[in-house]
Amino acid sequence: MKTCIKCSEIKEYYLFVKDRNTCKVCKNEYRKEHYKNNYEKLEAYRKEWDKNNSEKVNEYRKKYRKNNSEELKAKSKEHYKNNPEKVKARGKKYRENNPEKIAKHYLIAKGFIKEQITTELIECQLLITKTNILWKTSHN
Ligand SMILES: [Zn+2]
Repeated sequence: MKTCIKCSEIKEYYLFVKDRNTCKVCKNEYRKEHYKNNYEKLEAYRKEWDKNNSEKVNEYRKKYRKNNSEELKAKSKEHYKNNPEKVKARGKKYRENNPEKIAKHYLIAKGFIKEQITTELIECQLLITKTNILWKTSHN
């Protein structure tokens, strides 16, 4: 038996952190408190890390996608097969919420480079998309 220097409770040895005079409960409390107190610092650190490493991370993701494209494709196909409504709904929602991103995507597919894509061009593309949708729905 041992006395914890934090909570002053007498407990079995195994309830103590190895070679320490604080029990595991107190140690956990301390850790939680420490995390809470340092949350902002940790969060700022994480953001800074992301900022400094975003290129690396993007590069890594790109490579990962490239190296696993077949597997990822199969996975998403499988996912679509199992959840067609869910996937469709998500795609629809995404398109509704990000019309400009989609327009940009179309423009890039058409051969525009990022630097050429202006707000005006995006607006034109949005109109084209809208026209296409209207055409499709009226010819179905
Ligand atoms: Zn304790």
